[in-house]
Amino acid sequence: MFNYPQNQRFDKPSFKKALKKSNHGSGLVPHRASLWCGAQHMKNWALDIIFPKICLGCSRFTAIGDFDYVCKKCFGEVSLKNTFECVGCKRQTHLGLTCVFCKKESELDQLLIAAELSDSVIEKMLKTYKYKFVSDMAKPLSVIAKKCIKKLLSKGFNLFEDSPVVISVPLHKNRLNWRGFNQADLLARSVADSYHMPYGEKVLTRVVNAKHQAEAETKEERFSNVKNNFVVTNREAIKGRTVILVDDICTTGATLNECARVLKNPPSGGGAKRVIGFVIARG
Ligand SMILES: [Zn+2]
Ligand SMILES: [Zn+2]
Repeated sequence: MFNYPQNQRFDKPSFKKALKKSNHGSGLVPHRASLWCGAQHMKNWALDIIFPKICLGCSRFTAIGDFDYVCKKCFGEVSLKNTFECVGCKRQTHLGLTCVFCKKESELDQLLIAAELSDSVIEKMLKTYKYKFVSDMAKPLSVIAKKCIKKLLSKGFNLFEDSPVVISVPLHKNRLNWRGFNQADLLARSVADSYHMPYGEKVLTRVVNAKHQAEAETKEERFSNVKNNFVVTNREAIKGRTVILVDDICTTGATLNECARVLKNPPSGGGAKRVIGFVIARG
């Protein structure tokens, strides 16, 4: 466990919900909405003065040019993955392709992991993003994802070569309402936008609100916990295409595999050609 700086200011789901409401037809007339946003801006400005943001790496105050919670120096030192591994057995494979042995039970064709979870800054960024509801963390994490894509290009692998559809691992609507944002969704949208790739809206829906994967103790429990949790709700968007499935973090790969199974396998599934998992780190 690590200690967060005591005066760190974190977003609350209720605030995010309010923000979402203001942006999506809440019934607020435009000038009231902009006044509301202006008020929020002032509030954030005042809070930044009272509670300056602190770097998760070096605990110094962040400054102009830094990300909100990670300074330029610490961000520059983040370790990117140099090798890739099979989603099933974790053995090193070329570009994270699923090995022949794991192919039998893994529907995910390839796993791309951007950074090392053993890097303490990465670990703190992901935990702050996921468990402290800091949606601003999507910015530096997206940059890490883009650095990984650039690195893949230098190895001769163009992730976007066959015009894939980018999607994210969905949250159940109850969890989304509680959290206020889907951490995987923000990353996926940012990656899709940066490379002008289509983002698959509501391609996959999580229909079962199972217990959190972190609460499942064994690998078997993790696989059964996510079984039949997802359905394809926009088959046309993915039929015959490569899908890049984005999540913030993976451990056993149970969720990515279950999503890939549903995305690929007809008749109930989507008929996707192949599914590439793309995560920031693996736990
Ligand atoms: Zn720092
Ligand atoms: Zn394997």
